[in-house]
Formats: sequence, C-alpha cells, structure tokens
Amino acid sequence: MTTAGHKPARGDRGDLWRGGWYRPAQRQPSPNFGPRPAGADISLIVLHSISLPPGVYGGVAVLDLFGNRLDWDAHPYFQTLRGLQVSAHFFIRRGGQIIQCVSGDERAWHAGASCWRGRANCNDYAIGIELEGLEGQPFAAPQYAALARLTADLARHYPIAAIAGHEHVAPGRKRDPGAGFDWARLQRQLMARLDRPLDWPRMAA
Ligand SMILES: [Zn+2]
Repeated sequence: MTTAGHKPARGDRGDLWRGGWYRPAQRQPSPNFGPRPAGADISLIVLHSISLPPGVYGGVAVLDLFGNRLDWDAHPYFQTLRGLQVSAHFFIRRGGQIIQCVSGDERAWHAGASCWRGRANCNDYAIGIELEGLEGQPFAAPQYAALARLTADLARHYPIAAIAGHEHVAPGRKRDPGAGFDWARLQRQLMARLDRPLDWPRMAA
C-alpha cells in the first residue's frame, strides 16, 4: 500500500534506473565511452579487477584513471598507464559501494580485443564491472553481495544472457579477476535473485 509521503518501493524497476544510470550507485562519470552499435543487445557482463597502485584499496586513483585525470608521475606504476583511456560501467569497492562511471546504454572501454562464445568486440554488447581488488587474490564479502544485487538488477533492465571474466573473453592476454574470484559463490548468491539462468564460464572442478 502506498501512502502519501512514502518513497516508491525499492524493488520498483522504474525507481532503480534513470535511462542507463543505476540509481543506487554513486555517479562518477567518465568521458571514456561512445555509442554502442545500432541494435546492440546488451547481453553480457564482463567482470574485472583493478586497484591502483596494485593492492592499494580505497584511494581515488582508479576513478582518476577512468576520468583521465590520473597524475602519471604520482607513482612509478602509473607510468605504465600513461595516456591510457579506459573506463567501466561500474566499480565496486571492497566495502560494497557501487560507483557508476558510464551509462549502461553507452559503450564503455574495458574489454579491449575480446570474444565471448564466438562473438567478438565484447565492449559493443557488454556491461563492464570492475571489482576493487588484486588479480588472483580474494575479494571481499560485501563485494559479492553488491555484485549479486547489481547483476540481478542489470538482468531485469537489459537482456543479459551471460557473465564472464575478462580472463575468459581475452584468454592469454588478460587474467582478471583471476583465481581469487569465487564464481560459485556469486552463482549461489544470484540463484534466488534471478528469474532465468545465465551462461557462465566453464570452471575447473
Ligand atoms: Zn580487465
């Protein structure tokens, strides 16, 4: 029952999205995006991991990188990123905070040369989610909770059919999120939230 003065229910789809912007997320817009090809179905989620410098959490460097304002001279590692123009749709901090940098309707620059189930150029049809973390290391419990919620909400808003890691869409070139990411855990947390099955990377038993 709706009473005057009450906010709309949180589960209300119309309340969760404004265009391609996810309202529960904090916005930190990145200029690194472009239009998706006409008719692109937004059907894949690509998971990544990132921290800058690697293994240092909670700082502003990742968002500065996505915003093209990273001070390349502030750390020796940043030199390796000089001139790089990249972005992702979402960045999930260790504490589960979700930050959105690019509208889901637009094409973010996260996967590079990539292919999923025979279909190339994943950026054309993917949502990119960066988890604050270090390739190969474990991720934090609040990140799984936030990722499960975000994935379910994305799958209700877009025709998401599959979820994969950067390491799966660019094998041999990329290794994130790596062995520290627990796919089975995400799968368990998603099971109750999704109304249809997703295609998952084949995992070694
Ligand atoms: Zn990646």
